[in-house]
Formats: sequence, C-alpha cells, structure tokens
Amino acid sequence: QELEKKKLAEIEKKMGEGEPIYSKKRFDECGISPWTVKALSAAGYFLMTRVQEATLSVCLEAGKDALVKAKTGTGKTAAFLLPAIETVLKAASTSTVQRVPPVFVLILCPTRELASQLAAEANALLKYHNGIGVQTLVGGTRFKVDQKRLESEPCQIIVATPGRLLDHVENKSTLSVRLMGLKMLILDESDHLLDLGFRKDVEKIVDCLPRQRQSLLFSATIPKEVRRISQLVLKREHAFIDTVGL
Ligand code: ADP
Ligand code: MG
Repeated sequence: QELEKKKLAEIEKKMGEGEPIYSKKRFDECGISPWTVKALSAAGYFLMTRVQEATLSVCLEAGKDALVKAKTGTGKTAAFLLPAIETVLKAASTSTVQRVPPVFVLILCPTRELASQLAAEANALLKYHNGIGVQTLVGGTRFKVDQKRLESEPCQIIVATPGRLLDHVENKSTLSVRLMGLKMLILDESDHLLDLGFRKDVEKIVDCLPRQRQSLLFSATIPKEVRRISQLVLKREHAFIDTVGL
C-alpha cells in the first residue's frame, strides 16, 4: 500500500508537466476483472492514462467500434489489451466447449518486434488468469511450428503481422476455422502498417473475418490511408477518440 501511494504521488507529479497523460480514474474503479487489476498493480499501473480511460468506456459501456488517435507513449497498448481481455473472459464464459477452440481476439501490428512486445504485455496482464493464452504469428518461423504451437497451447488471443496471418488464412489452416469465432479485431500502429505496404494483406484478412465483431483501430497519426482502411474495418457508427481533444 505504501508503494502504491508513492507510485501515485510520482504519477500525479508527472501529470503537472506538459500535456497530461493520466486521467483521474484508477483501474480498480473501471469495472474490469479484479485479476487483471491485480496484474496491473504488479506491473506498477494504478491510474489509467487518458487514452485508456476513453477507450475502455467506449468498449465496455457501448461496445462500439473505435478509431483511436494518441501520441506515442500514452499507453495505447493497455488501452486495447484491457478490452481485449474482457472480451475473452465474456466469450469464454458464454461459449460451449468446441473441438476447435475459437480465437476471440486478433491483433494485427506491423513488425515482429512489436508483436512480441504486445504479447509480453498481454502475458503480464494475464498473469492471474488461468487457461487464457496469447500467441504470436510472425514471419520467420516455420509454418508447421506455428501450427503445433497453436494446437498445443491456449490461444484465445493472437498477435500477428499481416503477411503470416494471411498465409494461414489462404492455406485454410485450422486457424482460419478458429477465427470464425472472432469477437474483436485490433489494428495497432495502423499508420505504420499501411506505410509498410500491408494494406492489401489487411484487406484480404478482414474479408475473411466474421462481420459480427468489434473493431478497434489505433494510430499515432491519421493520414488518408488510415481513414480509408478505417472505413473498411470499422462499422459506420464508430467512436473517434482523439486524446488531444480530451
Ligand atoms: P503507446 O503504444 O501509446 O506508445 P505504450 O502502451 O507502449 O504506449 O505505453 C508507454 C509506456 O507507459 C510503457 O512503458 C507502459 O508500460 C507504460 N504505461 C502504460 N500505461 C500505464 C499506466 N496506466 N500506468 C503506468 N504506466 C503505464
Ligand atoms: Mg504502441
């Protein structure tokens, strides 16, 4: 508790400098699983950042799609991982046991390095949840090895680079069947995804996903290309969260 107070004091001090990053709300008052709150505390997260608060309220209260713009370093990762985990918990508690267990959340990101960072952060947040797993699918590993891992370990959440995921989808691998149960699609660093020429791949992937899903698009900047892909990925009635305006 002492440590927590000290951390909070540090955060409050930081809030005074420049554009505030943190909101006034704590993770234990935002309605997410107490096991996740415990993991957040273990990671030193107590107060939500503004983008986290805004995204969580749109996702949890309204279940809407969202296009989220916020600067680098403002906590976008947890902003989508927290609703992602809630989605998995809800889906897992309502779905029956199936021969091929569905993948509930798919996160697409531009690079291998980012994919493993996102998976590491997801694992940290899942520390106290049993039986929920996250797997990465990126170029450079053998397809067969991927498939073994997907079959032998829990993976309700997948973090992937578009190229490798498309391989799976186009080869009609077991994964493509498991994706039929998808509840949430997330695009992280959407501007970089498109800069790197992944537009076609993302479009093909989205074409194969269930239409009944929630989609979240994150980006530090919103150039025309991101707007265009957002029209394809998001429902027409989506929230636009811009932390500059908060
Ligand atoms: P972005 O994706 O917006 O660039 P990240 O999600 O990578 O930002 O977060 C930036 C840093 O802030 C990371 O080191 C992360 O661990 C830390 N962080 C994020 N949210 C919080 C929070 N609520 N409390 C404390 N630290 C946080
Ligand atoms: Mg980020």
